[in-house]
Formats: sequence, C-alpha cells, structure tokens
Amino acid sequence: MSVPQYKRVVIKLSGEALAGEAGFGLSPAIIKSVAEEVKEVVDLDVEVAVVVGGGNIWRGKIGSEMGMDRAAADYMGMLATVMNSLALQDALEKLGIETRVQSSIVMTQVAEPYIRRKAVRHLEKKRVVIFAAGTGNPFFSTDTTAALRAAEIDADAILMAKNNVDGVYSADPKVDEDAIKYDTLSYLDVIQQGLQVMDSTASTLCMDNDIPLIVFSITENGNIKRAVLGEKIGTVVRRNV
Ligand code: UDP
Repeated sequence: MSVPQYKRVVIKLSGEALAGEAGFGLSPAIIKSVAEEVKEVVDLDVEVAVVVGGGNIWRGKIGSEMGMDRAAADYMGMLATVMNSLALQDALEKLGIETRVQSSIVMTQVAEPYIRRKAVRHLEKKRVVIFAAGTGNPFFSTDTTAALRAAEIDADAILMAKNNVDGVYSADPKVDEDAIKYDTLSYLDVIQQGLQVMDSTASTLCMDNDIPLIVFSITENGNIKRAVLGEKIGTVVRRNV
C-alpha cells in the first residue's frame, strides 16, 4: 500500500531544475511538470514546503567573479529565487493547489514575509508553502535555507531534487567512470569526504538537527512521490547510518 513515510517535508528544487534543457531561465513545460509532481505528494496528504534556488537566473558567485561586491551579488541571487517561487506558485495554483509564498526579504506586494508560525499554520491547512529569497542573508545558499527552514518547521525530511545527478557519488560520475553511487551516507561522511551534496553549512545544520536528506533525480517522473513513499531511490543521508 502507498503509505507516506513522512508527514511534513521540505522539497529543495535547484533553480536549474526549473530551466529544462537550456539550463538557464524558466521553462513553462518543466515548471508545470514539477508542479504536477508536487501535487502527487500533496494528494498523499503530506504537508509540503518548497525551497527554490535561483541558479537558473543568477548566482552570487558569478557576480563576485565579475568584480561585484559579493553581498550585493548574493542579494541578486535571492531576488532570483523570488521569481522562481512566483513561477512555481502560479503553476501549482493552476493545478488547484493552494499555496503561499513567504519571502525572507520583505516585499509585501508579491509575497508574505517569512513568519515561522504562519508557515506552520499554512502547512496544517494543507497549503504548499514556498520559501523564497533564501535565508535573507548573503553568503548563504538555498541548500542552507532548506536545512534551516526544515529545522524551524520541524520537517521530517528534506527531499533534494537534482536535475543533473541521481544521487550522491564518490566522484563526479560525468568525469570519473569509476565513481560509485551511495545508497546511504552519514553527514559526517559527506563533510569529511567533501562530497558534492550540499554546502558544508547546510550539511552541518542537517546533522546537528538530525534531519534526513534524500537526494534523487527530478528528471525521472514520479520521483518526488517515490521518495515520500520511502522507495529506494537516490541516496539517503542521515546523522547516523
Ligand atoms: N543566496 C544567498 N543567501 C541565501 C540563499 C541564496 O545569498 O540564503 C544567493 C546566492 O548568491 C546564490 C543565489 O542566491 O548563489 C541562488 O541560490 P542557490 O545558488 O542556492 O540556488 P540553486 O543552486 O539551488 O539554484
């Protein structure tokens, strides 16, 4: 029987997961299919929060490499996540799912400000809450946002949907053909071996707060639902394995 393993989840979507083949900008067809995948999980009566990245539009690192002030470039990155969040909200609402975007940078005309207790209330009412504008702080990432918000709202797991890889490998599988894919890992392994899962701030936060992370590919349809149902896909990272 299809019984969800988690009551409340944070889905982390990288910006690139919304871009499609081009790897840049927004693909309406891809956003629609991601929204349909999120709906499958909502239909299981699971409470869903989403953290969306912004790498399909702008990354702070690129700006700073171009000579921009890093903090200013990072704020641009956070604004990019707001655009992605609004696009996802639109697609979800077209499917009849109630959503709220909560932004860590106040912009009341387009989104609610992030208020933890209000986010939890929305989730209890089965609304999908999209956390926009990262943590609201430069020098952080949307992976760290996912870890932070998951801890704050007491989520049971973070589902990290990747568009270029289907789990965690010992090395980059595109470069090293001997790279092995892990089924399970501890956060300590990730940090000590410098594995490319999430940045170290995010990994540490997940480890300290004992939040499991499931890393899988979004390019295969139905994977978000499979992850929620506890099927063996991708890699599971935990505090203790
Ligand atoms: N960012 C930030 N603080 C945050 C979250 C994001 O400064 O708390 C900026 C940072 O510049 C980052 C950009 O927003 O490069 C886009 O986020 P991220 O790279 O995490 O997106 P993803 O790789 O998931 O698409």
